[in-house]
Amino acid sequence: MSEPILVAVAWPYANAEIHVGNLTGAYLPADIFARYQRLMGRQVLMVSGSDAHGTPITVRADAENSTPLEVYKRFHEGFLDLFQKLGLTYDLFTSTHTENHFNVSQNIFLALKDNGFLYTASELQWYAPSQGRFLPDRYVEGTCYICGFTNARSDQCDNCGNLLDPAKLIEPHSRIDNSTPELRETEHFYLDLGKLQPEVEAFLRSRIDYWRSNVLRPSLGQIEGEGLRGRPITRDLDWGIPVPLEGWKGKCLYVWFEAVIGYLSASVEWGKITGDPEAWREWWHDLASRSYYFIGKDNIPFHAIIWPAELIGVGTRFDELMESAPPAEMVLPYDVPANEFMNMEGKKISGSRNWGVWGRDFLERYDPDPLRYYLTVNMPESKDTDWDWEDFLRRNNDELVATWGNLANRVLAFTYKNWDGRVPDPGELTAQDKELLAMVEGGFETVGRELEAVHLRAALGEAMRLATEVNRYLDQTAPWLAIKTDRAAASRSVYTALKAIDSLKVLLAPFLPFTSERLHTFFGYNEPLFGTQGLETRQDELGEHTVLRYYPDGASGRWEPSTLEPGRELRQPGPLFKKLDISIVEAERGRMGTVAVK
Ligand SMILES: [Zn+2]
Repeated sequence: MSEPILVAVAWPYANAEIHVGNLTGAYLPADIFARYQRLMGRQVLMVSGSDAHGTPITVRADAENSTPLEVYKRFHEGFLDLFQKLGLTYDLFTSTHTENHFNVSQNIFLALKDNGFLYTASELQWYAPSQGRFLPDRYVEGTCYICGFTNARSDQCDNCGNLLDPAKLIEPHSRIDNSTPELRETEHFYLDLGKLQPEVEAFLRSRIDYWRSNVLRPSLGQIEGEGLRGRPITRDLDWGIPVPLEGWKGKCLYVWFEAVIGYLSASVEWGKITGDPEAWREWWHDLASRSYYFIGKDNIPFHAIIWPAELIGVGTRFDELMESAPPAEMVLPYDVPANEFMNMEGKKISGSRNWGVWGRDFLERYDPDPLRYYLTVNMPESKDTDWDWEDFLRRNNDELVATWGNLANRVLAFTYKNWDGRVPDPGELTAQDKELLAMVEGGFETVGRELEAVHLRAALGEAMRLATEVNRYLDQTAPWLAIKTDRAAASRSVYTALKAIDSLKVLLAPFLPFTSERLHTFFGYNEPLFGTQGLETRQDELGEHTVLRYYPDGASGRWEPSTLEPGRELRQPGPLFKKLDISIVEAERGRMGTVAVK
């Protein structure tokens, strides 16, 4: 196999249900891209996991009188369920609370330290006299000194996206008991981003031709503006990865520092699970490999600056600590196609106000492919987009059902009935037939080019345009009428349409895997387009964790035009999509803002 492709997907915090904005922001585009790359025959590794250590989890555990472990496990199980139902084909979806991730993260920390990119300093940290302990930044809220947002976290403002200096926060208060915390001195390790800046800048400039401007501009802007400064990478906290040094008891690696390491540690864990512990090197050391980081815009600084800085800083020292030979430099992110946000009927999605559509809740009432379709045509690739139930209904009925589903079902059912369940022999194709097939088969080039560039909306739009062309062709050749007078002509146009649909099935498969797979069986094929998913339980010294895996065995899909042969035996076809009734719009709008979040 050629060209290793790493599909690195944002790690969801295991403290909240996943909503459609999260899905369209990072998880779904990653899966579409991974499925396409697999069809291209490339060596894909798609990894992610639950971010188990964030203070959002300890905050929730405190609020529920539960433990961080229980909170993380509960949400992790929900993610595993959702990702299977939506067909998100992670080669490995694991968690940061594993022995393997602890080990890899601690080795990254030690490699940076050995190479002189860490320093220690005393800093002021929030201390709660009422509780007698230091408070993580997220336990403290206040007013953003940059934009004036009143619910800013102490370390980052969710409104303007800026990283904040806690000392400058206006009117700080503890989220636990609303008491006023005080800043006390404590010693921590810092990542020396200033020292790494020249190499980070060179890295960003080498991506200037093809990175999305919403990712590149703010990242270079930060360097050209005030420049990079050291950031603390340890915290006074007992839930997380211990600092691997004597005398640092009670201090953990800061979650923003260790969670990004998950892409690497999950690759290492995947190798161990598959029985090839050194397999991760193919994606992390091979200079021909390309890594794509699918994230939301709120995570850009961590993936465009901090993670590359960590990778540059460890050099070959990480391999030495891992006892992996020969020691090599780490491959830097090839692309960070970060998405903007999706809003909900004109308002920002909010868990606390239950303003949103939650993935698992949605899939209790609808099929996965219509969701994947709507979230792709509406993907916030260059600007914020809006989920609108009327638009969802229209896209489902007018595009999925009418343009694509009915096309496939109508032609297959007509063939099945009139040609004895077999693909007809077309005889000599006409210029019109050949023109249609050339146009559809050109889609492997045009749709593929958009997918390659992670322009997923454009890619799906182009595939659907080709489906419209097949409908137009059928309107003109009308085999349903021709069959009464000229069976040979009907055979020809039915064969042509079937072959076009068989190709469209592949062009649409990364977006609509469930229905494409179904259509594939209607065509009489026995081997599936894609592999399967399943859960496995892993045991280590931290206990048990469940992982989601993708098994490529048996997958036969190729990003190539159909070679449909006359005489092929078809299976009894059926509808691919359901037409939705207008009444769902009012019903769904009524649910929003009222149904309790699980
Ligand atoms: Zn702000």
